[in-house]
Amino acid sequence: MPIDPTQPYDDANIFAKILRGEIPANRVYEDEWTLAFHDIAPQAPVHILVVPKGNYVSWDDFSAKASDAEIAGFARAIGHVAREAGLVEAGYRVLYNIGRNGGQEVPHLHAHIFGGRPLGRMVG
Ligand code: C5P
Repeated sequence: MPIDPTQPYDDANIFAKILRGEIPANRVYEDEWTLAFHDIAPQAPVHILVVPKGNYVSWDDFSAKASDAEIAGFARAIGHVAREAGLVEAGYRVLYNIGRNGGQEVPHLHAHIFGGRPLGRMVG
């Protein structure tokens, strides 16, 4: 079920539980600002989710409220994870689903990194 993009942050969401270590995830990277783990239902040979540690529902929430350090840390982590996964030479896709129209299901901001095969051109 896509989320309401204006809902307040709910710390019972699945990624909040992963961040707190209450449920397992196949972690690939962690730093002060972010955690990255393999998607449980991969849509490509490489499908990694990168989440900020702060409590942000969506990109809208994050871009409006996060500090410059959090935003920079998150952006750098996405690049780092893609490099470490060996995706740079062949290319990859970073995707955010935002709110109802974007089809976002988990109400904690996450970037999807897809790679490992030709992904096709996608503009909408
Ligand atoms: O962008 P959206 O909210 O639709 O994506 C949520 C993603 O979280 C899905 O790709 C789903 O497979 C993934 N997921 C996960 N581990 C969970 C629950 C969901 O990797 N425990």
